[in-house]
Amino acid sequence: MFHQYELKYGYGDLEPTIDALTMETHYSKHLATYTKKLNEFAQKAGIEDMGITKILESLYTIKDEKLRTDIRNNGGGFYNHNLYFSIIGPNGGGEPSGELGEKMKETFGSFQSFKDQISELALCQFGSGYAWLSVTPKKELVLSKTCNQDNPISLGTGNTPILNIDVWEHAYYLKYKNMRVDYVNNFFNIIDWSAVEGYYQKACSK
Ligand code: MN
Repeated sequence: MFHQYELKYGYGDLEPTIDALTMETHYSKHLATYTKKLNEFAQKAGIEDMGITKILESLYTIKDEKLRTDIRNNGGGFYNHNLYFSIIGPNGGGEPSGELGEKMKETFGSFQSFKDQISELALCQFGSGYAWLSVTPKKELVLSKTCNQDNPISLGTGNTPILNIDVWEHAYYLKYKNMRVDYVNNFFNIIDWSAVEGYYQKACSK
């Protein structure tokens, strides 16, 4: 049985970056639906006891094509949103310190350069999808973008996501309308770098 991530903050706590209605709808409707459907389809496939990462890594083992697509989309929606809601918070913003901060400077040159590059990916993703910061099996940082509810795991990259920016219109349209650029720019005010650092350490200790 899959359970959606429990929010550590209230729907209105991320204002003004994300308005309360967007948060409520995104969490209690969108993520709740992905979770419900994942549970249904995983049960149908007999994989409800597998972890979500394992499921997304081994989609190819699901022989029924429709069921495989349903699990790819809803399992991705479950994983992606659990990560998303866990790496933002009311005390977010600033820059990562510690080992992640060092690694970012080494990889991208500066925090600003990281921000520019991931923002560019978030903005050029055509239609729905995400921009990602992930850790490769060799412990390097890498940026990417994906469509729909795909992610670096379901695409078989072997990389471990540690941060994502949801650029589906449901993530920002009520407040930002067509101005995805403003949403992405403001998103950096709510990134909880201590949470991202936690995911980074976990990925590096694999
Ligand atoms: Mn979303």
